[in-house]
Amino acid sequence: MIERFSPHGTILAMHTDTIPTSDLGWQRQALCAQTGADFFFPEPGSSVREAKRICGMCDMRVACLEYALANDERFGVWGGLSEKERLQIRRTSC
Ligand code: SF4
Repeated sequence: MIERFSPHGTILAMHTDTIPTSDLGWQRQALCAQTGADFFFPEPGSSVREAKRICGMCDMRVACLEYALANDERFGVWGGLSEKERLQIRRTSC
């Protein structure tokens, strides 16, 4: 499971091993697929500012966040939200 968060992979490559092929459409248009995963899976305590900046320009932001929430993605920045921000959403929606 940790391998999918490898900082040397791309977010598209990391996601393809966990996302059903039918759900990959939005990922093909994801900006993070062009930039690599380093910004989106920073070391603990590192800034997520750059990832959020990129997410802010990504047309797939809503689909990405919906996917992350529906699949309980715990690590990294998805849909412009950090792990803590998504956790807050999960807690308030229960
Ligand atoms: S919103 Fe961010 S993490 Fe999601 S697909 Fe776009 S760039 Fe990637």
